[in-house]
Amino acid sequence: MIFELSHKGPFEFNPETVKNEVEAGQMGNFALGKLDAADRFHPLKVGRSDTDLQAELLRWAHFPQYTHFSYQYAYTLKQAYELECKNFHTAVSQLNKRAVHPEPPAGHDFRCPNPWCNR
Ligand SMILES: [Zn+2]
Repeated sequence: MIFELSHKGPFEFNPETVKNEVEAGQMGNFALGKLDAADRFHPLKVGRSDTDLQAELLRWAHFPQYTHFSYQYAYTLKQAYELECKNFHTAVSQLNKRAVHPEPPAGHDFRCPNPWCNR
């Protein structure tokens, strides 16, 4: 089963590609993972940055288990949170076992957009 996230990518995950591809200072969402034998992207981790997506990706760029990344910009805190929830539920069966449900940004009580989710 392929998990399609509505992201740009996948791109090779290294600091140079992140800096070339992702604008600094933008909020947004990302997935980290690897390609299978048929070059399909399999996310192992999904996340977001409410302040600087490029900086957040660079923090992860030295973990060798993630060879590729995909991303999407967001324009509001709520949009970024809801997209992270959607990505989490879409890919949860293949994410790292320690993956936990996204938390809204501090001071906001956004709800997960999935109606069956109690978060
Ligand atoms: Zn949820």
